[in-house]
Amino acid sequence: MTNDSIPFLPYGRQSVDEADIAAVVEVLRSDYLTTGPAVAAFEAKLARAVGAEHAVVVSSGTMALHAAYAAAGIGPGDEVVVPATTFLATANAARYVGADPVFTDVDPDTGLMSAAHLEARVGKKTRAIVPVHLNGMPCDLQAFAACAERVGAIVIEDAAHALGASYRDRPVGCGAHSRMTVLSFHPVKHITTGEGGAVVTNDEALAKKLRQFRNHGMTHEAAAFEEPSPGPWYYEQQSLGHNGRITDIQCALGCSQLDKLDGFIERRRQIAERYDRQLAGLAGVQPVSGRSSDAVSAYHLYAVLIDFERLGVTRAQVMQRLRERGIGTQVHYIPVPSQPYYRRITPYDAGDYPGAVRYYQRELSLPMYPALLDSDVDRVVRELRVSLGI
Ligand SMILES: *Cc1c(COP(=O)(O)O)cnc(C)c1O
Repeated sequence: MTNDSIPFLPYGRQSVDEADIAAVVEVLRSDYLTTGPAVAAFEAKLARAVGAEHAVVVSSGTMALHAAYAAAGIGPGDEVVVPATTFLATANAARYVGADPVFTDVDPDTGLMSAAHLEARVGKKTRAIVPVHLNGMPCDLQAFAACAERVGAIVIEDAAHALGASYRDRPVGCGAHSRMTVLSFHPVKHITTGEGGAVVTNDEALAKKLRQFRNHGMTHEAAAFEEPSPGPWYYEQQSLGHNGRITDIQCALGCSQLDKLDGFIERRRQIAERYDRQLAGLAGVQPVSGRSSDAVSAYHLYAVLIDFERLGVTRAQVMQRLRERGIGTQVHYIPVPSQPYYRRITPYDAGDYPGAVRYYQRELSLPMYPALLDSDVDRVVRELRVSLGI
């Protein structure tokens, strides 16, 4: 039974305060609800935060992936290499531009794509390699850049989990090891705009293409016109784009949220360390590491790998018991090539993805968000142990 006096702890959630609300209300009273000054302000602030020259904000992280693949000129006949362990959108965006996602296996203990997984899957058709910094932990980007260069592809980082993470002492998104980096502002991510996403890049030509893509492929810029301009009303559609715009209402929230990013990450780190300490040494429970010699995690998810077989319970039972005790958990992720949609394109053989399958079978994401209290962490660990019988 759910006890109404105990607050439900979801696996992730936003932190919105009065400053955020005031920022949104201010836009509602202003002249521009979309494509106004808050969009430009959020872009400038975001670019600064990740150390990139350009940020192009759009309506979702999925739209950002779509825009990035389109701006890179990826299309039919091209292959985009993505890890099997990711959210659907990393692969789906390749389909939106008519390209084929090619899935790599991942490390069974971190869920991350490595250079070794990549080597077997890149080839002449590879146009982009898209590492996913799962749980907020940066992949080994250096190795991917070398591989991409060798086959004439580019690296696009899916950093939906990793705003605020760093790799080799530089922020994820700075572009030291990739041409573009994609972010999401969904409420469970590090900062939120309700729905929203961005592509950050140091390449001005790509930034232009991204801006054009989010606005139907059109331009109002006289210097860019292909035809002579007959007058001030004139605009040109030069490519096929979308309405991928994000509103000023959302961007005002994004700006206000960004002010708090460092504090959010610091609190997430404290929560992760508290979980780590309390779960250390528990047989059959292995937290996914948030540290390596090269990278610092942004602690998006607190993932644990549980040997359910050895403990004699199923994951479904554990999730159900935790839910009854007011604790939400989730599983990130079902290997994407095993989804019915992708199986219809390419028959799925679990033997091709032993790491992704092994990671998936054991993974459980515990509550992780800045507003989680130390006492909440203690309660989650206590109830998890009860649920697992340890
Ligand atoms: C959330 C997420 C996306 C998509 O972002 P949306 O803003 O939800 O469209 C893409 N990739 C990964 C890894 C994600 O977690």
